[in-house]
Amino acid sequence: MNYISTRDTSKKECVSSAMAIKQGIAADGGLFVPTELPTIDEAFVRELAKCEYHERAAKILSLFLTDYTYDELLKVCGEAYNENSFVGGAAPISKVGENYFLELWHGPTCAFKDLALQLLPRLLSLSLDKTGEKGDALILVATSGDTGKAALEGYCDVDRVKIMVFYPNDGVSNMQKKQMATQKGENVSVVAINGNFDDAQSGVKKIFVDKETIEKLSENGYFLSSANSINWGRLAPQIVYYFSAYCDLINEGELEYGDILNVTVPTGNFGNILAGYIAKKMGLPIGTLVCATNKNNILADFFESGKYDKRRPFYTTVSPSMDILISSNLERLLWFTEGSEFTKAKMSEFSENNCYETEKGIFPDFVGGTCSEENTFAKIKEVFEKYGYTVDPHTAVAAYVADEYKKTDSGKMLIVSTASPYKFPYAVAEALGVSECADDFEMLDKVSDYTKTEIPEPLKKLKNATVRFGKTVEPSKMKDEVVIFGDR
Ligand SMILES: *Cc1c(COP(=O)(O)O)cnc(C)c1O
Repeated sequence: MNYISTRDTSKKECVSSAMAIKQGIAADGGLFVPTELPTIDEAFVRELAKCEYHERAAKILSLFLTDYTYDELLKVCGEAYNENSFVGGAAPISKVGENYFLELWHGPTCAFKDLALQLLPRLLSLSLDKTGEKGDALILVATSGDTGKAALEGYCDVDRVKIMVFYPNDGVSNMQKKQMATQKGENVSVVAINGNFDDAQSGVKKIFVDKETIEKLSENGYFLSSANSINWGRLAPQIVYYFSAYCDLINEGELEYGDILNVTVPTGNFGNILAGYIAKKMGLPIGTLVCATNKNNILADFFESGKYDKRRPFYTTVSPSMDILISSNLERLLWFTEGSEFTKAKMSEFSENNCYETEKGIFPDFVGGTCSEENTFAKIKEVFEKYGYTVDPHTAVAAYVADEYKKTDSGKMLIVSTASPYKFPYAVAEALGVSECADDFEMLDKVSDYTKTEIPEPLKKLKNATVRFGKTVEPSKMKDEVVIFGDR
């Protein structure tokens, strides 16, 4: 299977999956996409349903990463999704009332990013050999909170790789900051910027196409690569859990093969939900993909009106990982829907005007919905009081939008649960009416006492971890930080 850039109108510059993973982003600024999608049938899903998660992952990834052998994939998937990293399973489902919550936060950093970022470093390592690469990778990450820590954890002390993470100083939770600032490893660095997530992401994107920086790094034997969901190696592993969820629901007698399953995804950069869309395009019986947004509802507006308009205020919310106005992966949806000429035109329109328009109704698989801050808190409370189940603010956004959507469609609903409630203890405590205190870790204990759930081990351990990183810079200085970090 070959990959091309979403903006390649010549359709000639194909690369292998190892190359796409190594490069992260295409030279023309577009995103790598497979030139065609593999399709599956009932027999494939039934076979998958008999497998464990890491085998399901290897089977699906082998359809996309055709220059990796099945045995290689099985090995790295086995390492990534082992019982020690994902306590209680990689992607278990909890049935809560009539909804199924797909819990993607049992990994080492307690957010769904682990599903991709425990695997991507292993795929990248293999890709260096496969592409005959002599240099070492310098990974740049812009994070709205969860990607940064998950990437640091995934790449920590991986051979031939260094990783630098930028996060918006006022845009992440205390717990997220602490997770990143205490990261171990000889090959890692963390820098805060004075700006929001979009500033961080734009800054990183600029560095990727900055000839001078690339040259300086190259003299030191480094090439740039990305761990953001613009990297195909991030996206592909996310396709797996939609299949896995469907299989588990069959196994548990909740679904018959062929039953339509709607899916609601709390969305920011549009990576997670795009993976669900790809699963559907491959033939998995998914119905509507409900794109749930918080107060930063640019995507909900887009699916409503066809217009993507960034000229609006940016809000900091209780679901910070969704505080985004530029959803990078939407570019891939444009490409899958309308092809490269269209995508290239829209992206250049966007970079000129911060806005582009598409025809209404060209994305029939998607519906958007928004959840206010007030309703986020109310949903956390409602779900807990009705069912004794605790959700984090991101999942609450999805649960609210899912329940609204269900007023018009009685189909079964899978809600993608993206973070442990303990990653956002203050918001959860506020919602549940648990009195707040100044100490983060006392707060974890209080939430635990109240909800009668266990604090995840990785968060508990942070209490006594040493802070290693505390630098803050202006977005314009990100480049300099990268050059310094890339000096040998
Ligand atoms: C990253 C993240 C999201 C948004 O996912 P995208 O793939 O960027 O749309 C939602 N919730 C949590 C907890 C996240 O970490």
